[in-house]
Amino acid sequence: LTKKVEMTNWEKGHYIDYAGMNSRLNIVRQRLNRPLMYAEKILYSHLDDPHGQEIERGKSYLRLRPDRVACQDATAQMAILQFMSAGMPSVATPTTVHCDHLIEAQIGGEKDLERAQAINKEVYDFLSTSCAKYNIGFWRPGSGIIHQIVLENYAFPGALMIGTDSHTPNAGGLGMAAIGVGGADAVDVMANLPWELKAPKVIGVKLTGQLSGWATPKDIILKVAGILTVKGGTGAIIEYHGPGVNSLSCTGMATICNMGAEIGATTSVFPFNDRMYDYLGATNRKEIGDFARSYAAELREDEGAEYDELVEINLSELEPHINGPFTPDLATPISKFKDAVKENKWPEELKVGLIGSCTNSSYEDMSRAASIAQDALDHGIKAKSVFTVTPGSEQIRATIEREYVAPLDSNGSEIGQLKTLEDFGGMVLANACGPCIGQWDRRDVKKGEPNSIISSYNRNFTGRNDANPATHAFVASPDMVVAMTLAGTLNFNPLTDTLKDKDGNDFKLAEPSGAGLPSNGFDPGNDTYQAPPENRESVNVAVSPTSDRLQILEPFNAWDGKDALDMPILIKAKGKTTTDHISMAGPWLKYRGHLDNISNNMLIGAINSANGEANKVKNFTTGETDAVPATARDYKSKGIKWVVIGDWNYGEGSSREHAALEPRHLGGLAIITRSFARIHETNLKKQGMLPLTFATPEDYDKIQPEDKVDLMCTELAVGQPFTMKVHPANGDETFEVKLAHTYNEPQIEWFKNGSALNTMAKHNKK
Ligand code: SF4
Repeated sequence: LTKKVEMTNWEKGHYIDYAGMNSRLNIVRQRLNRPLMYAEKILYSHLDDPHGQEIERGKSYLRLRPDRVACQDATAQMAILQFMSAGMPSVATPTTVHCDHLIEAQIGGEKDLERAQAINKEVYDFLSTSCAKYNIGFWRPGSGIIHQIVLENYAFPGALMIGTDSHTPNAGGLGMAAIGVGGADAVDVMANLPWELKAPKVIGVKLTGQLSGWATPKDIILKVAGILTVKGGTGAIIEYHGPGVNSLSCTGMATICNMGAEIGATTSVFPFNDRMYDYLGATNRKEIGDFARSYAAELREDEGAEYDELVEINLSELEPHINGPFTPDLATPISKFKDAVKENKWPEELKVGLIGSCTNSSYEDMSRAASIAQDALDHGIKAKSVFTVTPGSEQIRATIEREYVAPLDSNGSEIGQLKTLEDFGGMVLANACGPCIGQWDRRDVKKGEPNSIISSYNRNFTGRNDANPATHAFVASPDMVVAMTLAGTLNFNPLTDTLKDKDGNDFKLAEPSGAGLPSNGFDPGNDTYQAPPENRESVNVAVSPTSDRLQILEPFNAWDGKDALDMPILIKAKGKTTTDHISMAGPWLKYRGHLDNISNNMLIGAINSANGEANKVKNFTTGETDAVPATARDYKSKGIKWVVIGDWNYGEGSSREHAALEPRHLGGLAIITRSFARIHETNLKKQGMLPLTFATPEDYDKIQPEDKVDLMCTELAVGQPFTMKVHPANGDETFEVKLAHTYNEPQIEWFKNGSALNTMAKHNKK
């Protein structure tokens, strides 16, 4: 274990520390004296203080030392702006930045990329110069999607990584615990502070049997999402194990871990196995694979380890699933899907099929998709629906451009898979997020027109892909997307139904086929990486003072030490309030580095319980109905603090800290909900906002949108309830409601100092 093996081929001097991990783990093992789960082993081997750390799952806060940080371009802007204000010369933990979110899909890969480079020039210039300055690896636009690049280049078994994106868990496919965080957490780790995580529970998913035919790894997570629902993984790591694991490719395991984000899981992991070893070899990291083998006993669960909850899935019986619309946990097996379409009156015609995204853009995914496309072409037919293809990385794109579809018959294909997908009718988009994050200039339907689309992506909240609330977005495996796109309707089951070939004869699609790894190795494609220069001192970071996309951050005010009295409720939100509702993506992405400008989208998607509408609230000082951000700005200008009341799992969705920065910037004090999504709750604390929950969830119903509230901030103490006094607008008597919170001592300091960053700068000064 004392061998020196670099963590990645792209950096020098950062070695995998299995010896150190082993010794920390042994300390904890002696203390706990019981069999450990794999997820626990990864976390405990990264403890800042393995001797003194209190360890109780679901309760204690672990102080951890991650091996890496990864940021995507939309979140990196704010993370780096925050890091800059901590005043350090370089990042303390290896970090990379990936340009993938800001590229809009319009007419196809190359042109879209050129346009994005022009439109986003100031952002890319800021990121590339700040990365060079602070010793951060920079992946240029066109390189690919963050999670695919991390899997191909940085992930390794047993490692701990944080990433400023909710699908960071993708790297669990290589046995890494990779956790999505807000930019503020990334800043902590970049600045060498331990990172805090409430010790997660561990949900075991035992896989037995073997996948075959049309069933894919994606269907495992679609099924798990149906079982556990969008709330089911909250506060837990999902740990897959059992004999079925060995039938999955490494990238298939990554797909499963990726979508664990949809059930609220902290992350998901698979134990180290031969498929991971093969993948490491195929991506030029055989030495890491060999090193991992020497530590293999600790890269899986101990015998007899007991999970907090256990789910079992027999892969031999697993059917392909289609999840949606509007939520990723509405899981329907393909055999029941036609009936569901009819019963629910979902639009039957399929308008668009989209494959790719970080979830499903591996070589295996693309080659299987191409095999179905080739089968169709051999029968003289093509996609009926609009069809788009997003390769996950430049390496995947170049490889599928070169590799042929394995011949289906004697007339087998002699052209690259990418060309096959194009011939089938596909538009190949840039190696980037594109429509998955709403970067899609969709023109085939009008806003408000009900229609169906199906993608191999992970997330399908209302309006996410095309900002049309009437779009019914379904998620499925790439195989199912291609098959449905071919039929042009949701009423098609490729396992049982036939299609007409060019002569009108019936035929059934062959089962998809494709290898996990390319037989001739990967083709790296174009060089898209910028390493930090040797001499970094002379680098100037580019931020224009007149920019409307980038703004240097000013510190927030410290707490005034008083209780907050007679505050209005800006909005009492009803039902799902995701981070997309709080800080919408799509066209707003471009303001991610400019807090004041992006605050104009604050809560514009949240549904007001008073009128059932979005972005319409009453300003109590004027009596007028106005947009949420405008009302908040008006209160702020009048020196009035305000609160938000929210429903269950408030802030689910992504890790974007803008959803926490914006209410803070516009003068909010507290967000009071029935429950929070973990990342959002932490983000609020970091920005000096108070995330509070109703001790009795039914109290949510007792509060009316026009009531005023007092918050007894001076009561804030670890483990103590917090009092809120409610003054009903109808003149009824004032009543008290008990609120709960999850603050620990250091977090209370954040609140007092105004933010975590203020606290950090204070310590740096000392
Ligand atoms: Fe990009 Fe979509 Fe993946 Fe997020 S989920 S990283 S937007 S591809």
